Amino acid sequence: METTPARLGPELARLAAREVVVSEAVEAKTGEIVSELGISATPLGRAAFDSTAARDRLTTLFGVTTLDAFGSFSRAEMGAMGAIVEYLDITQKGKLPLLRAPVKESASSVMQIDAATRRNLEITHALSGGREGSLLATIDRSVTAGGGRLLERRISSPSRDVETVATRLENVRFLLEQSRLRADLRAVLRKAPDIDRALSRLSLDRAGPRDLAAIRSGLEAARELAVALAGQTCPASLTQAVGTLAGHEDLHALLDAALVADPPLLAREGGFIASGYDRDLGETRLLRDQGRGVIARMQAEYAHLAGVQSLKIKHNNVLGYFIETTATHAEKMMSAPLNETFIHRQTTANAVRFTTVPLSEMETRILNAGNRALEIEKRLFEMLRRAILDHAGPLGDAARGMAEIDVAAALAEIAAEADWCQPIVDDGRSFTVIGGRHPVVEKALRAQGGAPFIANDCTLADGSDGADIWLLTGPNMAGKSTFLRQNALIALLAQAGSYVPARSAHIGLVSQLFSRVGASDDLARGRSTFMVEMVETAAILNQADDRALVILDEIGRGTATWDGLSIAWATLEHLHETNRCRALFATHYHELTQLAQTLDGVDNATIAVKEWVGEVIFLHEVRNGAADRSYGVQVAKLAGLPASVVERARIVLEALEKGEREGKPGPKALIDDLPLFSAVAAQPAVKPAGPSPLEEKLAGIHPDELSPRDALALIYELKALEKS
Ligand code: ADP
Repeated sequence: METTPARLGPELARLAAREVVVSEAVEAKTGEIVSELGISATPLGRAAFDSTAARDRLTTLFGVTTLDAFGSFSRAEMGAMGAIVEYLDITQKGKLPLLRAPVKESASSVMQIDAATRRNLEITHALSGGREGSLLATIDRSVTAGGGRLLERRISSPSRDVETVATRLENVRFLLEQSRLRADLRAVLRKAPDIDRALSRLSLDRAGPRDLAAIRSGLEAARELAVALAGQTCPASLTQAVGTLAGHEDLHALLDAALVADPPLLAREGGFIASGYDRDLGETRLLRDQGRGVIARMQAEYAHLAGVQSLKIKHNNVLGYFIETTATHAEKMMSAPLNETFIHRQTTANAVRFTTVPLSEMETRILNAGNRALEIEKRLFEMLRRAILDHAGPLGDAARGMAEIDVAAALAEIAAEADWCQPIVDDGRSFTVIGGRHPVVEKALRAQGGAPFIANDCTLADGSDGADIWLLTGPNMAGKSTFLRQNALIALLAQAGSYVPARSAHIGLVSQLFSRVGASDDLARGRSTFMVEMVETAAILNQADDRALVILDEIGRGTATWDGLSIAWATLEHLHETNRCRALFATHYHELTQLAQTLDGVDNATIAVKEWVGEVIFLHEVRNGAADRSYGVQVAKLAGLPASVVERARIVLEALEKGEREGKPGPKALIDDLPLFSAVAAQPAVKPAGPSPLEEKLAGIHPDELSPRDALALIYELKALEKS
């Protein structure tokens, strides 16, 4: 996909790229974006990106005369593909991994989500960095590696195409309704190995016998899935996925005949080809394994020939196999005609040792048999590897088909388990979520066994044109961030083709999703927190289109009050007038709620709290209207600030609020009016500054210079000072 520098960051974040190959020509321009995302960049010479050379290289690679069959690619796209192939060629030392034909993606086909939003919404990784606590970890019910990867891709790149979303939702619905079938499919999938991984190891020549077996059992699972789904009236795209599961019978039969049930890890140790599959191998193994039996038979033959019943064939490391007899019998064997057969090797104190031509040949054969068996197995391994790779295309399709079924079943599973609903996703501009929940917070609350999650509605946009913004006020800890994020996640899940945690949801396609939190701590990247906040806000105001969904949480928090308020104010106006998007804007600046009166598209919402004997109780209920006050002081009390500090804050607050009502000048003047100690009068007397006379006297004493009499006098003096 061709992309501009501004889109490069979000695009790399979407793909979760770990490494990029860049042309030396643009290395400097892309450096900052790449290093910010923590991606390693490998520069390649301009020649590697040459589009004409790339076309030749790619047509040869895919065995076609023109790439048109795969879509029409621009020169830049061609150059990029050529460079990747070149890079793989260099790093894999000529052994190219299995490359699928290129598929052209369009930037407008997926929801755009930049890196900050991904981090903030904890889509695939929690803020702590791990997967635990992320959206993906919470909802992932896939049972195969391929299904897990596909689900991650879906969640990372929600679609912007109504048809695609509808198709995916139809599959989920089908498997949600067919719970018995779903359980059967999941049971089969659970034992299915990772076909893609085995394929890629085989193509890179890093595979072992277990990769062959993985393909075999993958195909078995595919067949079982096809059987389970046969006769079902599946939605069209699921039927298509089922179609990929057929047509692998020959390969399966080959692998099944050739491989033992449970092959060892390493090819070089042999023992993975089933007995009876290859005659040569069978005989060779017989020789190796049953060598002793063969030797025993020879011993009987030689005893008979020499007429020496006590003749033995033995083995040691110096002579290998040898025939041993006593000196008495040895003479006969060393004379004609027996000496034509028996060749003398060694005479010891009480025995004479011989060999024969057949015995030493047999020995060599036994010794070689092991190696030969390994050779044959290696050859057969290679043959099976080739057979699989020749079938790589259909196998890859089957792997994708299975992943598709797994994802649909997994999403149906979570929908059933957590009581989710099928969203309506269309081309309009609606945003109506009834009874929405935050899947991760809900799960955490449930795990704690405490209060249940309170579901909330978000009737943000009714589908008409123009901006639709909810200005959300309410005390800290009321649940503002949770509410904001849950609505972003519901939109994301819906467009990924999943059911959503709500009673009902109607979402007009979201083109871009933005989420920012004021003053996040980003010192690691060497910017002040406020600077980060502003850079990120700027990105939204410059980019959000009228189909965007913007979530702003406490923007302006990172600077002084009036500064912050003005920035939040101007941001809200810009979103309303210029971006004209759908937005949820949480703030603790009550002053902003006035904007609802002047801006059509802005509505006030608040999260209800109840006051109970001076304490605040969070109800976590979102309602229309503005919060009547801030409650910050009560929250501070809950958090355990010393009582004197809370009391003092309450007095300052009252004075400020009174001042505001009476139109008095700014807070500085108000604060000056406040009697400082009135709130803390009950506290213990405050220690005066500077030393007391007693302390002063003590400081002047030098004990070493005092006589006992002076000391006694001093004590009387000190006693007198203490009383004064
Ligand atoms: P705020 O952004 O207003 O400071 P948060 O969204 O961070 O508040 O929520 C604070 C805590 O309140 C959460 O960690 C969660 O435990 C709880 N909470 C939030 N929303 C809900 C809800 N809808 N139902 C129940 N508990 C909630």
